[in-house]
Amino acid sequence: MSDRSLHYRTCPLCEATCGLEVTVVGNASDGKVVRIRGDRDDVFSHGFICPKGSTLAHLHEDPDRLRSAMVKRDGRHVEVSWDEAFAEIERRMLPVIEEHGRESVAIYLGNPNVHNHALTIYGRALISALGTRNIYSASTVDQMPRHVSSGFLYGDALAFPLPDVDRTDYLLMLGANPYESNGSIATAPDFPGRLRAIRERGGRLVVVDPRRTKTAKAADEHLAIRPGSDAAWLAALAQVLFDEDLVDTGPAGEHVDGVDEVRRLVAPFTPEAVERATWIAPEVTRRIARELAAAPTAAVYGRIGTNTVPFGTLASWLTDVVTLLTGNLDRPGGMMWAHPAHLPPRQVGPGRGFVTGRHSTRVGGHPEVKGEFPAVALPEEIETPGPGQIRALVTVAGNPARSIPDSDRTEAALASLDVMVSVDPYLNETTRHADVILPPPSQLERSHYDLAFYGQAIRNIANYSPELFEPHGPREEDLIARLALVASGAGADGDPQLIHDMVLDSVLQSAVKPGRPLEGRDVADLRAQLGDRSPADRVLEAMLRSGWAGDHFGASPDGLSLELLEANPHGIDLGPLTPQLPGLLRTASGRIELAPAPLADDIERLRAWIDDVPDRPVLVGRRHVRSNNSWMHNVEVLVKGRERCTLQVHPADAEAWGLFDGGQARITSAAGSVVAPVEVTDDIARSVVSLPHGWGHDAPGTRLNVAGRRPGVNSNVLTDGSIIDPLSGNAVLNGIPVEVAPADAGGTETRPASATS
Ligand code: SF4
Repeated sequence: MSDRSLHYRTCPLCEATCGLEVTVVGNASDGKVVRIRGDRDDVFSHGFICPKGSTLAHLHEDPDRLRSAMVKRDGRHVEVSWDEAFAEIERRMLPVIEEHGRESVAIYLGNPNVHNHALTIYGRALISALGTRNIYSASTVDQMPRHVSSGFLYGDALAFPLPDVDRTDYLLMLGANPYESNGSIATAPDFPGRLRAIRERGGRLVVVDPRRTKTAKAADEHLAIRPGSDAAWLAALAQVLFDEDLVDTGPAGEHVDGVDEVRRLVAPFTPEAVERATWIAPEVTRRIARELAAAPTAAVYGRIGTNTVPFGTLASWLTDVVTLLTGNLDRPGGMMWAHPAHLPPRQVGPGRGFVTGRHSTRVGGHPEVKGEFPAVALPEEIETPGPGQIRALVTVAGNPARSIPDSDRTEAALASLDVMVSVDPYLNETTRHADVILPPPSQLERSHYDLAFYGQAIRNIANYSPELFEPHGPREEDLIARLALVASGAGADGDPQLIHDMVLDSVLQSAVKPGRPLEGRDVADLRAQLGDRSPADRVLEAMLRSGWAGDHFGASPDGLSLELLEANPHGIDLGPLTPQLPGLLRTASGRIELAPAPLADDIERLRAWIDDVPDRPVLVGRRHVRSNNSWMHNVEVLVKGRERCTLQVHPADAEAWGLFDGGQARITSAAGSVVAPVEVTDDIARSVVSLPHGWGHDAPGTRLNVAGRRPGVNSNVLTDGSIIDPLSGNAVLNGIPVEVAPADAGGTETRPASATS
């Protein structure tokens, strides 16, 4: 690195994968970032950047970011050497495993895992070493309904249909606010610009949301729907399509079974039948269904507001149903699938299908979904005595103390563990309970490739960023490998190379299977051809070179390799999405199973609900472009300015409840009670109030000096872990019944006696 140099890398902070231009003074060991701006030559983002992207240097330099391993001694966290930290884990965790068995250990994986290819690749190795079924993650407070519906329909829980934003003529968007989130389960840097382009080319954008969000304000039409009722309204759209003979299944039609069964299932959901439940007038529902059917191309895209509700899986399924019935599945301009470069070519034929419930949680009997249990079940599994009780917990880049419902109960459960180990850069609300904290390198001290998000990108893209600075300590893969060695009983001084070899060989063994591009090749020979790179990057290189777009270790010389990506620092564009049927399908039938029994069986619950929706005020969450769940509130430039953790209330409700702008409100749910500053706005529907999530940074024992000065209010004190979407186990974070009343300033979170049992 010369004295002043330019570097190009992908922003790892959210799903948009923007290209950044980073100016550095100094070298890899002591350099300093002096500017970050959007990379105008990035093949995907073309210079777009949001306020978070320019703060990577703030995160890197944050004095509160942990640089050394920490061990809790006499109630305080103190810095120790890495060897001491792993020895402490061995000393504390192994006796628990020996005495109580491997199910006494749980793991919780937070959202940043999927923004980090090393953690994505090595997570499985750690889970295998722990040998437990007690696997929890942020997926069940976010998008598990999308996984489940894709699993049942297509046989692949990662096969997310994506809105072909750049080519569509009509985008119906439910429960999503990409002007603030920058997109989720639809990787599209400069999502706002792409939405504007739909309208500029004569298309139409319709946003369905109980709040008139920034995205809704930029749309042709905004429909203020009752929180949690998206599934009912989507069923009504499907009913109209059948009733008015508008169904045309288009290119996906020849691969689908179950259309007539869906006709029967949605028949009760007439626009009139769902009007009271959804707040959407029948004539509007009919018009939208006709518009979707008539549009040259249309995409129906639902996101977090449709997932984190009691009917999340039904809503996710019904977005695909409406897409298919209007001929827009797997069609340019409709909903399509990415084919990320690291995956093998598609193979037509039946797959293994998708099942849930292969085992269940010990206390609540929650079925396993995609190999994991609902995050809401974690507290009861920790606090309930008996065989199989969780006594040890490993968290990796997660903050369940703020991310999962019923925070007070969760924190009490974390505090009761025999041993807890966290891989995390901060001493936060969760890791303050940890006995050992292992901080990973900063975002600038690691290489980056978006393994997860290129699987849900609206173009097929490949872009690799090398490390900018030398890591201050072990890389993630070394941390995870050493943790895996300790957990497996190989000892705190075991050689991480054992794990690295195992992870790499499993990728290469898979790549040489019959039908794959490297079929029959010698694994040792392939391994020898990999570059002299970090262990995780060697695995990444193996994945890319053996993927459909790879160089196949010389057999396809123009194909991708890490070397080629390094020579193209602005990324390589592999083109717009292309039809993926039928090769994408991994159902047992090899066809789209549009009316799988678990979903068909659940629709009666929805039908009963629309007849009996209680008319009570409900709480919803919200996003802000300067926030990222719970973990970026320690960046001064992002949190400064006016208070953003406010309770939004409609003016008519404010008047009825005796609230005023700038005053304080007490919000009480079945789970708890908080006091928050009031923001009166007609951007929210009546009988709906909104608090953002991820706040509440006033817990003792943390080291978050900036966040602690602006702690905000923890909305998950109000969410109720006993309410879930039963098919996915996903938490319900939207549509929480609440009571709202004036409160004195300075009030704090409390927990009603009735909610402590
Ligand atoms: S939109 Fe996301 S990826 Fe792009 S700069 Fe902002 S945080 Fe980074």
